[in-house]
Formats: sequence, C-alpha cells, structure tokens
Amino acid sequence: MSQRLKLALVGIGKIARDQHLPAVAGDAGFELVAAVSRNGRVEGVPNFTDLAALIESGLEIDAVSLCTPPVGRHHMAAQAFAAGWHVMLEKPPGATLAEVHGLEAQAQVAGRSLFATWHSRHAAGVDAARTWLTGKRIRCASIVWREDIRVWHPGQEWILAAGGLGVFDPGINALSIVTAILPGALRLGGARLVFPAGRGSPIAAKLDLVHDEAAPVSADFDFRQTGPQSWDITIETDAGTLMLTEGGARLWIDGVEQAADGIGEYPALYRRFAQLVAAGQSDCDLRPMTLVADAFLLGERTETDPFAF
Ligand code: NAP
Repeated sequence: MSQRLKLALVGIGKIARDQHLPAVAGDAGFELVAAVSRNGRVEGVPNFTDLAALIESGLEIDAVSLCTPPVGRHHMAAQAFAAGWHVMLEKPPGATLAEVHGLEAQAQVAGRSLFATWHSRHAAGVDAARTWLTGKRIRCASIVWREDIRVWHPGQEWILAAGGLGVFDPGINALSIVTAILPGALRLGGARLVFPAGRGSPIAAKLDLVHDEAAPVSADFDFRQTGPQSWDITIETDAGTLMLTEGGARLWIDGVEQAADGIGEYPALYRRFAQLVAAGQSDCDLRPMTLVADAFLLGERTETDPFAF
C-alpha cells in the first residue's frame, strides 16, 4: 500500500459535497482516486455509477467512504471488504444493528478496518465536556435537538421512509455526544414518536432515558423547527451545570463559555480513519444506534398531518 490511502467516495450528495470532499482534499493522508454515484459526479477523478463497476475497472483502491443513505450501505460495505478495501461509514452506520455487527465480523475476517463515524463527537466542545464530567455525579440532563428538515435535508424523501430514521437522523448526533461524554450507561425507559401520515419514519420524538439507573435524561427531537435552530445539551451535576450548544461546538460551565478546540468534525474523522488503518484496528460503537432502535421498539406512536418537502 502506498503512503497515501487511495480513496473512493461513494454517494455524491449533500454531505459528500459539503464535508467529505473538502476534508479529503485537506488531508495529506488521502488521495481521492474515484467517485461512485448514480447521478452525482466529482470533477477530476474517474466516476462510476456503482461499486461493481469500480471493482471491475481494476483501479487501485485502498479504502471507500460511504456517504449514501443508511439503507443499502450494508451491501456496499460488504462488496468493499470482499474487494480488500477499508471502509468508513457515514452515520448512522446502517439500517439495522445486525447488519453492522455483520460488517464488524467481515472486517475482522478480511483484516481490514471498519470505521463507523459519529461526526458530532468531533465538535469543538465535546472532548473538553467529557473531561469536565469525569468523576462528577450526574443529577439530570436534557437534550433539545430541533431543526428544519427543509433546510438541512432538502428533498430527501429517503429520510422519512422506513430505514431513513426520520428525526433520529439528526437526533442520533446528540445521542452520539451524550454516549461519549456521560460517565455511565444510558438506557431508554420510554419514547413517543410522531409520524406524518403516509411516512415510514418519525418527524418528531421525545425520549425518556436514564443514566446509570439514577439520573433522568430527556431528549426532544423535532424536524419542524423554523427560525433559530436548537442543538443543545444541558447536564446538571453535583459540581455545576454543563451546556453544549450549536451541536457541541460551544461549551459552557455555569453560564461561562469555556475554551473549545478541534480541527473540524470531518477533518478529524479522516485523521482517525487513517490512524485506524495504520494500526490495523476498527472503531464501531453502536450505543447511539441501540438507543434509537430501542425507541422504535418501545415508543408509542401517533400520527400527524402529511408532510411535503
Ligand atoms: P443526500 O443528499 O440524499 O445524498 C446521498 C446520496 O447517496 C444521493 O445524492 C445519491 O446519489 C446516493 N444514493 C445512493 N443510493 C441512494 C438511495 N437509495 N436513495 C437516495 N440516495 C441514494 O443525503 P446526505 O444528506 O448527503 O446524507 C447521506 C448520509 O450522510 C446520511 O446517512 C446522513 O445521516 C449523513 N449526514 C448528513 C448530513 C447533512 O447535513 N445532510 C450531515 C451529516 C451526516 P446518486 O443519486 O448520485 O446515487
């Protein structure tokens, strides 16, 4: 393998264009050598409409980064491992837990790295939040994650279809943060999911979680928020109140903003992917997805008005 990892980017949509392409271009550890998408294209590299065509081309590839919606990604990742490539997955890592467990096993057999990414864990305030919470007793926490689906997911019909996760697509970002920074384990106690008529995934959800069987943690996810957007986590402890705002980018302790730093969420993901490949390791933490799956298992469901983009 050459020093720079030869990367193919798969699923050239919003997040590939907004984040992956600039992050890969700015990372000396990667060389973008191909793009795979049915309609989207990347200038300056060979483009393929599916992975089978890329495999057949014989082009030298070390790794793929899958930026397609979660349904269908499992098959692509399996094809990539069979071709001998390392695999990086956008969040959520798949459509079901079993398929991601299967990929973990496949990565091990193939001797390749699987990286199930959680980009929000690399927001600037998250590491410092984890450090501050260490050793503190958690009293309660609340998550408010309310955004405008039309702004952030324009025309993405898949997101409200079964397997698209609906409002859990952004909500799982908050869950990826709290599972990383809270010292103990989170368990879902109950949930209320609101489905637009005729859609397979919820547009809003409220979760009741418990931290270490002691502290209540509430989550309020809503895709219908217009105007100012809310991506906030508040954690009350025996030694003060921590707040992460703007999706984890800003950190506050007892109302005083703290220093936060980071190289950017997606640059950090690619740096970590290169480290995993170099170390022959995988990173696949399914705790955020398990909480979402439990909300689908246990949640009460109500129907609301039909939704059109
Ligand atoms: P998107 O704009 O719809 O792009 C995904 C691309 O995947 C599509 O443009 C499509 O390109 C390709 N694709 C392959 N199979 C598809 C299918 N069955 N249905 C629809 N598209 C298919 O979605 P996105 O916002 O980039 O999201 C992709 C993933 O990134 C999701 O898992 C999402 O959670 C994650 N993500 C999104 C954001 C965000 O702000 N939007 C932020 C962070 C993470 P072709 O038609 O060319 O094949």
